[in-house]
Amino acid sequence: MISFCNCFGIIKKGKNERAKQSVKKIFSRGLLRGETEDDFSYSGEFTSNTTSGDESDSQPRANRSEEILNLRAEKDMACRRVPVKETNKLVREEVIHNCVDSFLFSFFFYVNCFILIILSFQDEDGNKMINEYVREYRIGSGSYGKVVLYRSIVDGKHYAIKSFHKSHLLKLRVAGSETAMSDVLREVLIMKMVEHPNIVNLIEVIDDPESDCFYMVLEYVEGKWFCEGSGRGCALVEDTVRKYLRDIVSGLRYLHDHNIIHLDIKPDNLLITREGKVKIGDFSVSQAFEDNNDILYRSPGTPVFSAPECCVGGTYHGKASDTWAVGVTLYCMIMGEYPFLGKTLPDTYEKIVNNPLVLPDDINPQLKNLIEGLLCKDPKARMTLNEVAEHSWVIGDDGPISEYLCWCKQKRLVVEQEQHHP
Ligand code: ADP
Ligand code: MG
Repeated sequence: MISFCNCFGIIKKGKNERAKQSVKKIFSRGLLRGETEDDFSYSGEFTSNTTSGDESDSQPRANRSEEILNLRAEKDMACRRVPVKETNKLVREEVIHNCVDSFLFSFFFYVNCFILIILSFQDEDGNKMINEYVREYRIGSGSYGKVVLYRSIVDGKHYAIKSFHKSHLLKLRVAGSETAMSDVLREVLIMKMVEHPNIVNLIEVIDDPESDCFYMVLEYVEGKWFCEGSGRGCALVEDTVRKYLRDIVSGLRYLHDHNIIHLDIKPDNLLITREGKVKIGDFSVSQAFEDNNDILYRSPGTPVFSAPECCVGGTYHGKASDTWAVGVTLYCMIMGEYPFLGKTLPDTYEKIVNNPLVLPDDINPQLKNLIEGLLCKDPKARMTLNEVAEHSWVIGDDGPISEYLCWCKQKRLVVEQEQHHP
């Protein structure tokens, strides 16, 4: 997957390498990543308090999210036609490949995955199998684990497997007494709840109590950000951007309708299928709410995509902050650069909070209106996703973005029909 650093696909690296290489000397490492060295929040004239990063505040929210999600799971409230497969037996095998004998052994033993074994000879880490999945190569580096491409010998399809070491997750403190384990568990709980054409599908979770490894088997989204190389720098052409934005809004509106806030919308977490469809991934900092009350205390996302209200400490509304991040993503797609980026983290926050949005004069006026609406500093006056869905630039030739008839809505409709016509 080509990452979106600066702003379009030039660096074929995972997060860690990307942070080291692409941001180079000018950008502080934290600006483009979800993590910051000191969890700094801008404390200029807007600062009402300095609770951003306040661990005592974030702790109850995260626990609450898990409670809500567990309750939904208990009540069978997942919005999924096909539940996520849960496997608690892990069989890992090393496929030896440096002598003819072992090759023949492999051939007879794994006769139905012969071609896959040949392919994985190129893997310098050695060829590994996890249950029915044969390792191919690493496709991404996560903050807590890695993402590797596998192929199933059962259906022959590719899968992206995100793997973690439980002992490592438990040692990694993220806020207060919370460890990275709770982030990963929350990510899994959220992904088990949702199913939408614009959201990366979690297929299976492999968690063997006798093993330290934990795996999330995800549908593999193999495409790349399509950079035509025209327009401003490395920006995308308008029609492609419209298509991508419609997909992002459709997926995010579905999440918000299910009281899930993504909190890390950015191109790195937006994967493109070969057909050019966007799928939202990476729910590692997402939160779930019981109802429309989406107040949060701490902004866990990526600094350059943070909304002004998240930079100043205090509380903010999750949905509006996700909507801002959509605005930054749209700006990046059109302009090929970030709207507010400083040399340091405080500088970036300062710009997000205080600098006016600057757009070129020759930009399509409808598009300009949309970007300005999304990147409105006041969250109360900011355009909502429902407004975006009906905005003239978004409508284009395709009409307003229609509401997705999700699985739980379909079930509700059937119940209502039965009540009216028993
Ligand atoms: P993190 O929380 O560490 O950022 P992500 O879920 O974003 O983890 O995964 C890291 C990277 O791995 C992504 O930016 C992407 O390049 C790649 N990746 C993740 N999931 C998939 C997938 N389903 N298909 C293809 N690539 C993926
Ligand atoms: Mg990510």
